[in-house]
Formats: sequence, C-alpha cells, structure tokens
Amino acid sequence: MKTSAPRPLPPVLYRIFPKNPSAHLFEVSVTVTDPDADGQEFMLPAWIPGSYMIREFARHIVTLRAESAGKPVACTKIDKATWQCAGGVTGPLTVTCEIYAWDLSVRAAHLDESHAFFNGTSVFLLPLGREAAPCEVEIVAPEGDRYAVWKIATSLTQTPAPTRLAGQKKLKTAAIAGVSFGKPKSFGHFCAENYDELVDHPVEMGTFAHASFVACGVIHHIAITGRHRADLDRLCADLKKICETQIRLFEPKTEMAPMSEYWFLVMATGDGYGGLEHRASTALFCNRDDLPLPAQKGEKKISNGYRRFLGLASHEYFHTWNVKRIKPAAFVPYDMAQENYTRLLWFFEGVTSYYDDLVLSRSRLIEPLSYLELIAENIGRVTSQSGRLKQSVADSSFDAWIKYYRQDENSPNAIVSYYQKGAMIGLALDLTLRQRTHGATSLDDVMRALWNEYGKTGLGVPENGIQEVAERISGIALGDFFAHAVEGTPDLDLAPLFEVVGIDLSWKIPGQVKPDDAAPITLGARVTADANGDARLSQVFDGGAAQLAGLSAGDAVIAVDGLRVNGVTLEKRLRTHEAGDKVTLTAFRRDELFSAEVTLQAIGAQTCSLTMRDTPIDAKGRRNAWLLG
Ligand code: ZN
Repeated sequence: MKTSAPRPLPPVLYRIFPKNPSAHLFEVSVTVTDPDADGQEFMLPAWIPGSYMIREFARHIVTLRAESAGKPVACTKIDKATWQCAGGVTGPLTVTCEIYAWDLSVRAAHLDESHAFFNGTSVFLLPLGREAAPCEVEIVAPEGDRYAVWKIATSLTQTPAPTRLAGQKKLKTAAIAGVSFGKPKSFGHFCAENYDELVDHPVEMGTFAHASFVACGVIHHIAITGRHRADLDRLCADLKKICETQIRLFEPKTEMAPMSEYWFLVMATGDGYGGLEHRASTALFCNRDDLPLPAQKGEKKISNGYRRFLGLASHEYFHTWNVKRIKPAAFVPYDMAQENYTRLLWFFEGVTSYYDDLVLSRSRLIEPLSYLELIAENIGRVTSQSGRLKQSVADSSFDAWIKYYRQDENSPNAIVSYYQKGAMIGLALDLTLRQRTHGATSLDDVMRALWNEYGKTGLGVPENGIQEVAERISGIALGDFFAHAVEGTPDLDLAPLFEVVGIDLSWKIPGQVKPDDAAPITLGARVTADANGDARLSQVFDGGAAQLAGLSAGDAVIAVDGLRVNGVTLEKRLRTHEAGDKVTLTAFRRDELFSAEVTLQAIGAQTCSLTMRDTPIDAKGRRNAWLLG
C-alpha cells in the first residue's frame, strides 16, 4: 500500500507594526488560514523562558478584534490569557490587537520614538493547536520620515518576500539569498520553524550602533542601543575570544557552533545590568560606563565594569548550549501558560555562572588572579546570608517562581541564590572530578557529554540526569556530593579542594586593617538612605543586633543616643562604639515614634580571599589546566 507524506501544516502569519511610538502601542495581527471550526483559540504566554516568573503579558493587550473575509468575528475571553473566536469560520481568520509596550527590560517589550524592542512572548498570540506550524512574520516600519533610517537587529531568519511555504528547506534557501552578510537586517519578512522558535528571537528596531565579527566560521553581530561611546572594535575582538573559547569547549574537534548566526542586542543605560538568553541571540542591559572607550585603545587592562560586562555576555552566550539546547525535561516542551517546575536551575544557571567568568580567564581576557578575586567575592556573598542554611539550591530552583524572582526584605534570611551557590557547586564539582580522577575528567567533560546526549538529540535532562552523567563519565560515586551540596544546606568545604590546585582560602574581617585591631561593629541590618535622606533599614538579618532589639525592615532610624542621624551619618555614629556597647536608637515605624536599646555586635569574618601558593609543579599543572584550559 502506498501512503502519502503527512500534509504540511499551513503557516501562521504574523504582522507587527509600531503603530504609535509616542503612545507605546504596537499593532500586531495573527492570521490562521484554516481555523478550528469549533472556534479557534488564541493565547499569549504567561512567562518568558529564562526568567522564571509568571508575568501575564496579556495584561498589556489594550484592544483585540477578530475578522474573516472582511467581516467581524465574535471573540470571547475565556481566561486571563486566552480568547476564543466564534466557530464556523472557514476562511482565513485574523486577530488584531494593540499592545502597550513600555517595559524597558530584557523580558518584555518597549516602544518609543527612539527605538522598538520586543520579545515574541509579549506580542505574538499563539493559535492553540498550531504550536508546530511554521510562522511567517512581517515587521513593518513605523510611519513617518524620521523612521526611514531604522534598521532591524534580530536572529530571526529574514526572507526576501512572503514564501507562503511550509517546507523548512525552501524557507532556508530563500533566507540566505535575502540577507547581506555582516549588516543589520531591514524591515520586511521573516520566518520561524514553529511558535517556540518564533518567540525565541527578540527584535530590536532603531538606529543602534552595529558591528560584526566571525567566530569559528559563524557571523556574530553586536547592536548597541542607547547613548554610548563604546569602542566597537575592541568589543568585537574580546567577544570573539569568548565565543571561540566556548564553541571549542563544547566541540573541541569540529569547532562547530550550534547556530548559523548570533546577535548580542545591547541596551546601554545609566545603571542597567542583566541579560536574557536565546537560541541565537541575547538581550543585554548594561551600564554605558562599563563599555570600553576608544580613548582606552591599546590598553590591556580591563576595568571592573568592563569585566562585569564581558562576564554577562559570556554568561548569556554559554546558555546557547546550557539551557537553550541542553534543557531540563520539564522544559521540553515549555508550557507557556503556567509555571514549569524543575529542581535543576542550580545547574542551568549556577554552572553557567561558574563558566561565565572562568571563560574570561581561559580566553586570556583576565588574569587568573582576577578570576580568583571574582570567585572569592561570590563565596563571600553566599556565606554572608543565613538563608543558605535553610534552603537547598534544588528547593531554590523549584521555588524560583515564587521566591528567587519575588524577593522581599526577608529573602537574605530565607533563601539561597541558585546562581551564586550553584556557581560554587559547579566549582566544587569541577575540582572534585579533577582531584578524584587525577586530572583525567573535569566538568568540561560532563558538559560535553550532556551536549552530545541531550543537547544534540533534543531530549530533556531528567531530574537525576546531571548526577547520572557526571558519575558515568568520571567513574566515581557522587551520591554524597549531590546529597550534601545540591539537596542539603551545609556549607561546602572548599579549602581542601583549592589546596589540590595550590590555592589557599582564608577569611578576613571586612574593614579590619591589622589582625589584632578590634573588629568593627555591626547593626546586623542593611541601611539605605531613603528619599528623605533618612536611614531606612531595608533588610534586618537573622540574629543581628537590630533584630534582637526589635527593629524591623522599613524602620527609619532618626537618632542614636539622642543625636540626630541620617542615611549617611548613622553608620559613622555607630562606629564610634565598640562591640557590646548599648545604644538607644530612636526610629519611626510608619508614622509612630519608638525607641529601642541595641547591643552592638562585632562583625564576623566575611571576606573570602584566595591566594596562589608557590607550589610543586604537579599542582601548578592542575591549576593551569583548570584556569587556562
Ligand atoms: Zn543565566
């Protein structure tokens, strides 16, 4: 018997138009050529992959209407993010909405007269049942002469004209013909294999600065929006090193990248920091002062700000493999309507955080000592918060939706960051593997095995998959390690692991110059100057002097022993005392004045430092293999 090939799904057609930049309104339409006869449903995602919080993007839809053959079609909202059109529509059905875009972040959409940025999850309605259908998108320029110079930066595949073809092969051939190598894209037509891909290519439109470079044969673009004076040549040269180091880490033999182009979409602002990963791009927010200036040309030294920017770019680029392709089974496929639970974010975020700065050292962009400084800072940060003793990184991963992403004043006492402690676990696992296999196996080998077994096959990593692969690759039992580090809350004992690579770990008291100086005192609270200049306790730490005296987060301290203080002078005033001294703090809670007697405490040793020891040749070899690759 002869069977014919399954009928390809007709493409879903999208059109997005920055209709009213000054009112921050996009007009977005979606057309389904053969809608569900029982009433086609459309849904907007509740969250964006990579940022694990329910954001309910549908709340920004201002108006929505449906039509078919020029006639309106009734449309009913059936839950907070889903609409159902009337049944019986046989021809193409188009739903058009106006969407408010005024969220300047990497997670949503933003539109004004200077630029437009959107993630597909904020603007493209998903016709339910068409998740697998190919998508075609027309991106239309805003109306008016001032927008004639706008270009497009995106990893979405550009096509010369609407292809109206479902076959991916044909779309790809058309795409290559339509795009100029190394240049920004222009308004017109784009395509994606399915909805999941469509919403994984953020789009920037405007007059961004643009440069490109080739890493392991793949074109990489950088597009910077916002006022800046960055040295694009230097950025390209440094990012190229990072990209090539990472591609070679995952594919040492073939040096093949998993994407055919890559875009760094950067928004430079006065105080931004953050990023969101995608399969062939990343959206980054940075402080414009972190970017290198042309005046610093030839300067080898990297400022702390630029090191932070490169670390961020390296982090998001590492996600190209770890989380965008090597994914927890819970994300295969994503359920865009609700929380997707996994206990593995410590691996996907934490190990990515471990590698982001390590790659800077392996790329020779920073000195190994500078890298050790970054690890030491991270160890100090994790160890200073008592929440680490109450929540494991596995629990922190699972509850990311309601805890890590929704932090409040009590978070330092209640939760642990799966980024920061996850990076420490990545470090501990790497050094443990190197030590116990005498240098034969490292975390790099585990990453490559995960890439080959899960990343390349599209299979999701099961919840026990990381331990399983690490044990199989190394041949050593890691049950105790995972029970202690991942599922448990005790502190990691890193000193013996550092010893093997000739590094000493020690703890110091912050602010103490000589070892026998009296330790500085602490209130056991974070103090910030509020809008009035008052000393506001923004966080009160467990067991600290402030908490024991009955002070709470939100209290505004106005006097110490009857002397007026403010956000700047409170700590100065307290520093005139010694540990054990009793002082009377006068404070407002809401608008009610009260006093509290506080017994000041000595600050504990919180600053971690890592120093390289003059060391036998074998430990030095192990250290170089780890830090320099
Ligand atoms: Zn990340």
